[in-house]
Amino acid sequence: PLQAGIVGLPNVGKSTLFNAITKAGAEAANYPFCTIDPNVGVVEVPDPRLQKLAEIVHPKRIVPTAFEFVDIAGLVKGASKGEGLGNRFLGHIREVDAIVHVVRCFENGDITHVSGSVDPIRDIETIDLELILADLETVQKRLERTKKNMKSGDKRFRLEAEALERIAAALEAGQAARSVELNDEEQALLRDLHLLTRKPVLYVANVGEEDAADSSANVHVKAVEARAETEGAQVVVVCAQLESEIAELEGEDRDAFLSDLGLAEAGLDRLIRKAYQLLGLRTYFTAGEPEVRAWTIRTGTKAPQAAGVIHSDFERGFIRAEVVAYEDLIAAGSYQVAREQGKVRLEGKDYIVEDGDVMHFRFNV
Ligand code: GDP
Repeated sequence: PLQAGIVGLPNVGKSTLFNAITKAGAEAANYPFCTIDPNVGVVEVPDPRLQKLAEIVHPKRIVPTAFEFVDIAGLVKGASKGEGLGNRFLGHIREVDAIVHVVRCFENGDITHVSGSVDPIRDIETIDLELILADLETVQKRLERTKKNMKSGDKRFRLEAEALERIAAALEAGQAARSVELNDEEQALLRDLHLLTRKPVLYVANVGEEDAADSSANVHVKAVEARAETEGAQVVVVCAQLESEIAELEGEDRDAFLSDLGLAEAGLDRLIRKAYQLLGLRTYFTAGEPEVRAWTIRTGTKAPQAAGVIHSDFERGFIRAEVVAYEDLIAAGSYQVAREQGKVRLEGKDYIVEDGDVMHFRFNV
């Protein structure tokens, strides 16, 4: 499954948020492919379409799709210089698909801030600088090698060197590598660098309880939102402390607690949804008697690879997929009617799976 790494300076509320995630977390039994690691929290992606499909199919169980959050504590000023454990943490960020950057927007005299005052913009810049410096080192090392390789005359290396120089210039100017436009070929050449500042970022503004329902009076949140807008990034406002209380409740108790707080939904659910969007993820369904289940794919995934998310055998032996759009199946009210209406299509190996497709794979074993 895809992973988002939680980063942020010390004392901003990362562990509190991560605890809420693990408490709300899914049973690993449903997700045997998920990592078993104390620093990884598995969450289910809420999707009301599952319930609607279940009303048609009457399955034994419903299984939402899962998503993982990784707790990457320990990123501090100086990390890129290899101070303390910093470098190791940068290595962990390299492996995740997206970054969730927690910033402190709550005032509390009892809880010390590492830099003495609450200032989320300074915090963002501190972390960004470490990521930029780490990327600069990666890029420079690669550039040296690429320049040597250029002597071979292979024009691929020339292209690579030019792209690397553009990225190095941006990083030296204090900008993230994601600000540099790369064409498909350049992206393919540089993918294995796993640059930290090319990964998509989502900011979590951690506010106090008093701002949980309405954060419009919180100037720190305003500042983070303004900053995010200049970067084309998204912000989720949560109160990590409350989220960990919400995560302990279920059903009606949970609904009652949320409505007492004046919240339409848990901040965690908003966070999961935004992280899902950020990664450009799509959901397809399988719907049979044993289970109605959601599966995650990236935008543009073709049918055999989508089948491979369920099992690699499905991808290897893929023959065809029977596909009906979620809306069509719900409108028809049953598979049989959808079939009679000609809404169930047979698609081959080049079919690009759409969000909401209900799929049935045919494959050779
Ligand atoms: P980390 O170092 O980033 O993992 O931060 P922690 O999660 O350990 O939080 C640092 C301190 O801030 C702890 O004492 C938390 O109880 C407190 N804290 C975290 N989130 C909130 C919050 O939403 N509101 C308030 N008032 N305190 C919080």
